[in-house]
Amino acid sequence: MSDCIFCKIVSGTLATPLIYEDDRVVVFKDIKPKAEVHLLVVSKEHIQSLAHVLEDQTSLIAHMMLLLPKLAKAQGLLGFKTQINTGKAGGQEVPHLHIQLLGG
Ligand SMILES: [Zn+2]
Repeated sequence: MSDCIFCKIVSGTLATPLIYEDDRVVVFKDIKPKAEVHLLVVSKEHIQSLAHVLEDQTSLIAHMMLLLPKLAKAQGLLGFKTQINTGKAGGQEVPHLHIQLLGG
């Protein structure tokens, strides 16, 4: 989606230092960190929210979840919290699926 800030980061239109990237996700720091380490794991594909994930996208979700402990370890965290805000009423600020990783 052309007006989506996370799609702009995925496409490189909005230059953002990436912590990690592969063929399905990008990871970068939250601009308003709520912890010492606060990363956003964002799907490259535009999916509005967790509530919009289809059955055939479950491998993407698994991929994102399994990436979290690896990212946390790379950040030197001994443990971490995971948050997925879903929908405006659920505190989701950007309508593009992302998992928050918080630690430290
Ligand atoms: Zn998007």
